[in-house]
Amino acid sequence: MTITGEIVTTDTQFKHDTEMQGAVLPGNSTAELHRFAVPEPGWREVLLRMKSSTICGSDIRAIYREHLGKGPEGYQGVIAGHEPCGQIVKAGPGCRRFTAGDRVIVYHISGCGLCNDCRRGYMISCTSERYRRAYGWQRDGGMADYLLAEEKDLVYLPDALSYTDGAQVACGFGTAYEGLEKVGIDGNACVLITGLGPVGLAAAALCRKLGVQRIFGIDPLPGRLQLARDLGLCDEAIPSGPENVREVLALTAGHGVERAVECSGNPEARATAIRATRNWGRIVLLGEGGTVQFQPSPDLMHGQKTIYGSWVTSIWKMEELVERLVRWQLFPSRLVTHRFSLERVAEAYALMASGRCGKVAVCFDEELL
Ligand SMILES: [Zn+2]
Ligand SMILES: [Zn+2]
Repeated sequence: MTITGEIVTTDTQFKHDTEMQGAVLPGNSTAELHRFAVPEPGWREVLLRMKSSTICGSDIRAIYREHLGKGPEGYQGVIAGHEPCGQIVKAGPGCRRFTAGDRVIVYHISGCGLCNDCRRGYMISCTSERYRRAYGWQRDGGMADYLLAEEKDLVYLPDALSYTDGAQVACGFGTAYEGLEKVGIDGNACVLITGLGPVGLAAAALCRKLGVQRIFGIDPLPGRLQLARDLGLCDEAIPSGPENVREVLALTAGHGVERAVECSGNPEARATAIRATRNWGRIVLLGEGGTVQFQPSPDLMHGQKTIYGSWVTSIWKMEELVERLVRWQLFPSRLVTHRFSLERVAEAYALMASGRCGKVAVCFDEELL
């Protein structure tokens, strides 16, 4: 694999308006700024001035430390960042709906548009090996001054939401929203969330707006537990441990929760989510990687429980979520604990990799103030 662009040093001179900086991830726990030409939008493409680009757990897991990702998570040395939000500065020929000046969120995978998954709006699982390209993985992403995007991948960002709100709609909040829609959430449910990283916190924030009265969160990091408490997103924030199932049962009169949302990918946390769910309850797995061990008969079948798998979301559901965020006055940027300029992108990734933070954003212009 080759890393694209030419490394930026303190002596690098930029040609105004035609050159830009972009961050690439060599796979050794660093982020490097490289020099690139500002792209020119082609047929049904737009050029975005980047405003906010948030870092995702999967960037750290599959690219930053080591290039572990395969297939859809195979990193091809491009500009990183798959949670971009910005403003269109130039619309290429053939654009039919979006134009210069529009504030937009980018669905983070550009699909072929013609396979069954794309036609359902789930470009995440586009089956075309040739045309499925994720921003920040197989095509240039948002950690740059400008981003080239396809018009069909865009969703309008309403004025009520900031760009940093918008950056989290596709991957973080979208993933959580889709998982909650799959298991069905209402005010009667007591919900357990395992893993209080950005997706877990997003799930908790959405559960609150859906009327959930009792939310329990489990995480190994004290800082994350504290953040969940400080934001009022967890009624009980419980440190990870071997007694977790018993602790959740004790909080629910011995029954367990109606719904569990697994956001960690950790084997023990997954088993906890399954076992701490009450009979007839539902569990959704959102955390990536790893494995799980449980006994199908006592842990699942005899309790009439259902496990759902969920992967990101569809572009129409993203539009629906944006509308609801405005209605609910729910601002995803509240989960952002740290903002960095593009020049400090290496610090941003290092902090995210440490886990001692909420969501980390690389910001531009007014989003940095
Ligand atoms: Zn992501
Ligand atoms: Zn497709």
